[in-house]
Amino acid sequence: MGQFSAYEYRKLPGFDMNAFEGANQAIPMKTLVIHCFDPRAADIPLAVAAYLGDEVYPGENILDESGNRVGHTRTLFVETNAGGRAAFALESVAAMDYIFSVQNVVVVHHSFCGTTTLTPELLIKKFHDHHRADIATMFDRGSLAIMDFEDSIKHDIALLRSSPAVPKRIKLYGFFYEISTGKLTEVVRDIPAWMST
Ligand SMILES: [Zn+2]
Repeated sequence: MGQFSAYEYRKLPGFDMNAFEGANQAIPMKTLVIHCFDPRAADIPLAVAAYLGDEVYPGENILDESGNRVGHTRTLFVETNAGGRAAFALESVAAMDYIFSVQNVVVVHHSFCGTTTLTPELLIKKFHDHHRADIATMFDRGSLAIMDFEDSIKHDIALLRSSPAVPKRIKLYGFFYEISTGKLTEVVRDIPAWMST
């Protein structure tokens, strides 16, 4: 047993991994928003929650009689990374579907993103110049820089739709967010035809 094993669900008395049916009754998560970790883009989850409607964000903790955090009212979760790229969030989509049964995945790219200062080739070359390390084959080239916002948003939605890590019933939305005005513009929506009727 490790020092912190008592904090693992799978080691709790009575917890049966094979009978686990998800944690949606404790946290009603349904939407995952992928966006850039730029602090100027931090209001994106609020904007997306308002746009989609019927979402709770930020929500609050649900406590038991002893004050333990046993749930939360939030429905919209956030994954951040450089640029807000789908490629780097795939593992989270798969894991969140296992635990919570995700309904919507949203990708938001924002104005004046740092990833518009470079090209994939320049990032790879300069990284090699500075650190003598080759990262050329490590990442999806199309996810290393935003060369055009409409292209990057459509690229990421297509990447999600074609990935085995994203269940086919999930609804996908791609937005552009302007950081100064907070304006959110829908660029692409991909809802499986059998779900939109
Ligand atoms: Zn950014």
